[in-house]
Amino acid sequence: MQTTNSATTLIIGAGPAGMRCAETLARAGRRVVLIGDEASPPYDRVALSRWLADEITQADLITHDPARLAALGISFHGGSRVTAIDPARHQVATADGGVIGYDTLVLATGSRAIRLALPGAQLANVLLYRTLDDVRAMIDATGDGGRAIVIGGGLLGLEAAAGLAARGMAVTVLHAVDRLMERQLDQRASRRLSGHLAARGITIIENAASSAILGEDRACGVVLDDGRVLPAELVVMAVGIAPEASLARAAGLLVARGIVVDGQMRSSRNDIFAIGECAEFQGQCVGLVLPALAQAEIAARAICGEAATWQPATDSAALKVAGAPVWSAGLVECADGEQITLDDPDGAYRRLLLRQDRLVGAVLFGETADAAWYMRLIRDCAPIGALRETLPFGPAYQEAAP
Ligand SMILES: Cc1cc2nc3c(=O)[nH]c(=O)nc-3n(C[C@H](O)[C@H](O)[C@H](O)COP(=O)(O)OP(=O)(O)OC[C@H]3O[C@@H](n4cnc5c(N)ncnc54)[C@H](O)[C@@H]3O)c2cc1C
Repeated sequence: MQTTNSATTLIIGAGPAGMRCAETLARAGRRVVLIGDEASPPYDRVALSRWLADEITQADLITHDPARLAALGISFHGGSRVTAIDPARHQVATADGGVIGYDTLVLATGSRAIRLALPGAQLANVLLYRTLDDVRAMIDATGDGGRAIVIGGGLLGLEAAAGLAARGMAVTVLHAVDRLMERQLDQRASRRLSGHLAARGITIIENAASSAILGEDRACGVVLDDGRVLPAELVVMAVGIAPEASLARAAGLLVARGIVVDGQMRSSRNDIFAIGECAEFQGQCVGLVLPALAQAEIAARAICGEAATWQPATDSAALKVAGAPVWSAGLVECADGEQITLDDPDGAYRRLLLRQDRLVGAVLFGETADAAWYMRLIRDCAPIGALRETLPFGPAYQEAAP
């Protein structure tokens, strides 16, 4: 993809999707302006959990420092918030009073973390888990050890809990339903995971509905709706995300949950694209980094005049910290399917879901080295046939079988 067009593409949002789109366009010779409201140069949001767990440093997070951005020819405005889009004039306004023009606009504004509307939710030391600044605040709060409560036992909540525990806090996770990571794990895998985290000193309370955060200025505990009071010096909410589509909505673009786009990531206006977690394609918003990056590349190619269409693919998820060997892909429940389970109480747990002789979902706990092989089977969508007998034992067994 190489063009000589000097028209300017303005990208709002310097997260992974915005950065990938900027880099792809710059490499194709386009003039790119990238504007993001976070003060840091573009960084690896996915790796925040590793920083929180003290496995890497803050500097390791940075993917594109100013020198690299300059070498790519990308004009980067960090710490600058876009407050309005004027689609008729082809320009945007920024919080510091600036106005920037564009020929093509790409919205890569991502998601914002949801803050539960509980009494006390605005107290100091009630933090969210989304940005570098959030993690900086969490690390600062771990200084004296103490007790932390994480509200939310999904993937992010558990990574937050593991990181805070690694930094010496006594951590309790409150989860609203009866199964950790219920979107990715079945009941048995979730039980295994609870045991694994408990062995690392993390307390898990399931079916726990928080009703208030206690404290005067700072949080000092959480009240559950059954009346229990759990003291804590730090409360982290990891209860979900919402697409950041407010700019698009105010500018009159078609917005449902996210900014509605077609397969080329084009919004309801021809010269405005939306990519990553802020975009909605066929009723779905993505929530993981790989599809966000794929969308960024599709939009860049469309801006350069290439015909490319985004196709949603099956997602997978894994916990990155706490040494938790857990991986899941595709469906977790399938009413018209069948399941094959391998359950060694002291070893591996594998649950494979099949529908019409195709693998449609897999959960692995204890041993995840075969994840890529199962992922390929799900994506290929080919009949399992004779593989069925040995499927839970993984590819090594297939090769060894006569
Ligand atoms: C702790 C953590 C761990 C994660 N781990 C994984 C993982 O293991 N695997 C995985 O696939 N995904 C993971 N994710 C999710 C992944 O980070 C997201 O899917 C990805 O960041 C989405 O990229 P994006 O560019 O669409 O949005 P974002 O990363 O949200 O970037 C959007 C950017 O736009 C900025 N912005 C918004 N509005 C404006 C405005 N008006 N003006 C200027 N800038 C604006 C935002 O501040 C932000 O910097 C994790 C997320 C977190 C928080």
